[in-house]
Amino acid sequence: MPASPARQKARRQAVPDSAYPRLLLAWYDRHRRALPWRALPGQAADPYRVWLSEIMLQQTTVKAVGPYFEKFLARWPSVAALGRASQDDVLRMWAGLGYYSRARNLFACAVAVSRDHGGAFPDTEVGLRALPGIGPYTAAAIAAIAFGRHCMPVDGNIERVVSRLFATEDALPQAKPKISQLALTLAGEARAGDSAQALMDLGATICTPKKPACALCPLNEDCAARARGDQETFPRKAPKVTGKLRRGAAFVVTRGDELLVRTRAEKGLLGGMTEVPGSDWIAGQDDTIARQQAPALPGVARWQRKPGLVNHVFTHFPLELVVYTAAVPARSRAPDGMRFVKIATLQHEALPNLMRKVIAHGLGDGKPIRR
Ligand code: SF4
Repeated sequence: MPASPARQKARRQAVPDSAYPRLLLAWYDRHRRALPWRALPGQAADPYRVWLSEIMLQQTTVKAVGPYFEKFLARWPSVAALGRASQDDVLRMWAGLGYYSRARNLFACAVAVSRDHGGAFPDTEVGLRALPGIGPYTAAAIAAIAFGRHCMPVDGNIERVVSRLFATEDALPQAKPKISQLALTLAGEARAGDSAQALMDLGATICTPKKPACALCPLNEDCAARARGDQETFPRKAPKVTGKLRRGAAFVVTRGDELLVRTRAEKGLLGGMTEVPGSDWIAGQDDTIARQQAPALPGVARWQRKPGLVNHVFTHFPLELVVYTAAVPARSRAPDGMRFVKIATLQHEALPNLMRKVIAHGLGDGKPIRR
């Protein structure tokens, strides 16, 4: 059973985030996968083996890579030996592993390391990224595993673990920088490479996309998504945008500490949910026409247009709303079919996400409305 939210909170206060690397490493020391390219405990990692495996593992499974890795290592035991090979030989040995541009880049990289770096891989992410075929993930993986640099490679597996651990609500791909920052908090300063491999193993074997084995996870007591019981819904993904853009206006009207709302019709999109008054949402909506659909409120001299827009994506169409605001005097009555509710109690209303965004934008404090 997950810990209760109160216990989670207490534990979070007792166990600082700096404990994550220690918990992860203790787990890794007991449960690390034995992989042909991995150094044994206490041994220094060989940059050539790390690089070779990381290039092969791009878009390919651990199981498929194993025999190819052994074959390459037997034929070309060092980067210098690989750099002296012919590209045709490398491509022949690679046959069956797919994505042949990787093989061409592998060979080009071996040549570059031999020719430009005296046969030694650069030991920083920046230096590694300058080599053919090495992108951000691979550079971070090699820098951490082979050179102990304090960095964390972040692939889909690690994004999943991190987004669950911290219950990251931001959707991918926009959430990538945030997830990378959070992932780095899981890397130990002293054993950065083992931290990276621990997280890789955790994502591959425990924190799987479906039915993660949370009971066996070393971070389970501190996992925010597990505490909520919705871990399988992470990472959040931005919905695919389909359909034509619709546009409209929303009107955020305050009366002191209250907000004007209404309930949507039972049938149809967001049926029965609470919203602020708004215009129709139609493709090619004209701003002036949308604004004319503002609620009739005696005492509103002029509407203020909030800078910026609120964007939202429904299954069948994306929506863009202009938000207008107005403050009405204390005695103003709500128009027919609408009501004023205390802003402080909005969390009790059936507010769809779109309206949460509209209200946060209209009230201008940028604060999310509590659920
Ligand atoms: S507790 Fe479960 S969801 Fe959370 S990180 Fe561990 S395996 Fe993943």
